[in-house]
Amino acid sequence: MNATEPKPTEEILESLADAKSVFIVGCSGCPVGCDVGGEKWVDEMTAAVRGAGKDVTGSALIELLCNKALVGIKLGRIVEQVTAAEAVLVGSCGVGVQAVGNMVARRTVPALNTICLGDYQGLWPGEERCGECGECVLAYTGGLCPITLCAKSLVNGQCGGTGDNGECEVSPDHPCGWKKIYDRLKELGRIDDMRRMIDPRDARKRAIPDAIRRTTRYALEVSEQEDPAPASEE
Ligand code: SF4
Ligand code: SF4
Repeated sequence: MNATEPKPTEEILESLADAKSVFIVGCSGCPVGCDVGGEKWVDEMTAAVRGAGKDVTGSALIELLCNKALVGIKLGRIVEQVTAAEAVLVGSCGVGVQAVGNMVARRTVPALNTICLGDYQGLWPGEERCGECGECVLAYTGGLCPITLCAKSLVNGQCGGTGDNGECEVSPDHPCGWKKIYDRLKELGRIDDMRRMIDPRDARKRAIPDAIRRTTRYALEVSEQEDPAPASEE
C-alpha cells in the first residue's frame, strides 16, 4: 500500500493560485487506507477551493488512479466537467497524479505527499514512477516527476549536459527528463513554471518513516521485491 500524507491546505491553494476553476479527483485506493482520501477528503477540498473563490467544475473518486485505463474511462464519462477546469487537483500518490496528467490535457496539482511506496509503483504500473520524496512538486513540473525522470533528480531545470538529440548525459539511452518536462509545460502553456525556484529537498523525508518500516505489510512488500517467486517450471 502506498503511504501518503496531506499537503497543507495553504500549499495546495498556492499551487492553484492562478486557476479560476478546478476539477477534483481522488483515489479511493491507498489514500483511504492512510485516512487522507474518500468522500470526506473530496468534500473538504471542495469547500477549501470554493472558499478561495474558485469554481469547482466537478469531482470524482476513482478506485485506483494508477490504472490509466480506468482513469480514462471514468473521466471520459464526465469529460465536460474535467475540461471546463483550468487545473485538476489530484488526491493520490505521485504515480496517480502523473497517470491523471497523462490522461487529461490539463495541469495536474498534487494534494498529497508520497512518503512510501514499498517499491510498489501502482497496481497497474505504466511508465509513471514516484521516488517517494515526501515533497511532491508535480504542480510545477507539468505533472511529470523530476526525481525519477532526471538521472540526477534535479528539481530546478536541466543540468546543461543534455545531448543534441535530447538525450540524458548520464544515461544516453534515455531522454532527458527535463526536456520532457519542458515540452509538457509548453503544451500546457505554462513555461513560466520553469522560473519558479523549488527549495532544496529535505533528504530526511526520503527515508521511510519508522512507523511504516515496522509494519508487517512493509516487510512483506520488501521481501517480495528482494526475493521474487521463482518462475514455475513448464
Ligand atoms: S515529486 Fe516525484 S518523487 Fe516526489 S512525491 Fe511527487 S511523484 Fe513522488
Ligand atoms: S541530461 Fe537531463 S535527465 Fe540527464 S541529468 Fe541532466 S537534466 Fe537530468
